Order: sequence, then C-alpha cells, then structure tokens
Amino acid sequence: MTASRFLQPYLAELAGLPIFVAIVFGLFAVLAYGFACYRRKAVLTKWSDIRDAIAPAEVYRTRTVRFDISIFWMELFVVFPAVGYLGSLYGADQFAKLLAVRYGAPAFGLGAGHPIIATLAQVLASEILGTFGAYIFHYAGHKVPLLWAVHKVHHSAEALSPFTATRGHPIDSLLGVVVGLAWRSLVVGAVLYLTGGVFTPLALSLLACLAVASSIQSALNHSHVKLCYGWFNRIWVGPSFHHIHHSIELRHRDKNLGGGIPIWDWLFGTLYLPIPDEVYALGLNEHETGDNNPHNSFKGYVIDPAMEFSRELGRLARKAVLAPITGLRTLAQAVISASQTVV
Ligand SMILES: [Zn+2]
Ligand SMILES: [Zn+2]
Repeated sequence: MTASRFLQPYLAELAGLPIFVAIVFGLFAVLAYGFACYRRKAVLTKWSDIRDAIAPAEVYRTRTVRFDISIFWMELFVVFPAVGYLGSLYGADQFAKLLAVRYGAPAFGLGAGHPIIATLAQVLASEILGTFGAYIFHYAGHKVPLLWAVHKVHHSAEALSPFTATRGHPIDSLLGVVVGLAWRSLVVGAVLYLTGGVFTPLALSLLACLAVASSIQSALNHSHVKLCYGWFNRIWVGPSFHHIHHSIELRHRDKNLGGGIPIWDWLFGTLYLPIPDEVYALGLNEHETGDNNPHNSFKGYVIDPAMEFSRELGRLARKAVLAPITGLRTLAQAVISASQTVV
C-alpha cells in the first residue's frame, strides 16, 4: 500500500473536519436529549428543557469549560486523531512489509484463504492490543513527574463538556500520538504480517467505523451526561466510567486510565467501576480549583506546564550525566580505601 493511499483519506478528513465535528456534536446532542427524556420519563418539548438537556448552564458557565471552548480549534488540530490513527495503519503496513522482506511469508500465516479470521485478527489487534501503548503512556503520565507536568492540564477541568475531550497540553498530546502510533504500528503490523500482509477490505471498513465511534465515545465521556452502562462498563468505556478519572477524590486517583476499552485497567488493577449516584467533585485537587485554578489562561495552560516540563527534563538530564561520574568517584574512593587497608 502506498503512502498516497493513506494520505488521501487523511487529507479528505482534514478538509471535512468541520463536517466531522458537526456530526460528532450532532450525535452527542441527540444522545444527551434522549438521556434527559429517559431520566424524566417524558418527551421534552420546551426549548429551555431541551437546552438544559444538551448544554446545561451550570456546566457551560464554568470557567474551565468556557476556556475549553475558546481553545477548542487549536486543540483539535494538535490532537487531530487521524494523524495517529491513519499513521498507525500506514506504519503497520510498512512494518508488515519489512517483516516479509526479512523473514519471508510466515509458515502458519493466514492468507487470502481465511478472510474472516484475518479480518477478526486485524480488527482485534488494532482495537485491543493496539490500545496498550496509549494505556501505558497514560499510566506514565500519572506516575512520572516529567509527564505529569503536562498531563495534569487535562485533569484541571472542573466541569465536563464534549469540548473537554481535546483539553490537553500540546506536548502531552503530541507525545501520546507518537507513542500510540509507534506501538500500534508494531502490534498491528506483526498481525498484518501473519494474516497475509494486507488489510482485508472488511477490516479497513470496520476500523473506519470504529474510529468514528471512538470520536463520539470521547465526546460523550467528556460531557455532563452521566450515562452508566452497568455490566457493559467492563467492555466499553462510558461517561460515568471516565468521570471517575477526572474526580478530585483520592480514592479515584490514577483510576480508569483506558479511553476506549477498560481491559488494561482491569488487568493492571486501575479499574474503578462507577457506583450509581456516587457524588464527587471534578478537578486536580481541592487547592487548585475556582479562582486558584492555574490552568485557565493560555500562560497557565501552555507556557507554565511547558516550563515545568523543560525544568524536569533538565533535572533528569543532569542526573543521567552525573550518575556515571558519581559512580566512578565512589569506585575510586573504594579502591583508595582498600589499598590503604592493604598497606
Ligand atoms: Zn489522566
Ligand atoms: Zn478525560
């Protein structure tokens, strides 16, 4: 598969981005309205009720949501999902070719004779194994001070709206795209190599549908619609599941890191299944909320975290350079004291 074949849909999507965003937000509005009708057990016909169902004032008057709206277009281009997604499919294609050149056709490969098995393997590899890179990167974003310096911006939201889905520091977003792209290319590429070397047409169609579903899922998960999927929360991340990830409470910290499916949270002990009607506030911590939230301006959102990131990077670099020198000094001191003991 040539690069231009992958770039074609990417460029088409770039041109159709406003339409794509309108579709995602339109579907979100329908879902939010349907959820409100279900909750109230009545069809809402009054304009004020419909507006409250889709965009409640208490959410859209929050400073963090207003800020999310003001930087939405900038963020959308920074985290533009097609870069990571189509890039990873192209990367997988190239990696599969590399394996074929290096090792030849696999003896137990599933070629054109098994299109259904090949399709299943390719889709599952992308949607399950392929998400592990993003999970690990997100986990590191919470545990490594260098990465937390920029990831915490996403957690500074004090209310959630679909615009919050793109709330993230550009460094965090770009590193996430690179890690996700690299990991998915390797895993899907290896499976592609074993399943005939090319994506089946059905796999490509299913992956395109799942990419759109994932955009709607992300908009819904970052919204006021606290939809709970019950047992289905174990298979597909929903709003109430992801709201826990944005909670200010210590018991929720570093939980529910998965964005699409919760399998890695379940396997690595970071799963917290939502409890119906559980009450908690959203945000970084109780000291950095409201007027004390440092991330509600361009400086506090982009510049200050970038400076903290660079300071942390410098500290790590100095440590890496000084570690061998300190080690040599300790070794030299040990040799000197040993020689003095012998004398
Ligand atoms: Zn996080
Ligand atoms: Zn989030």
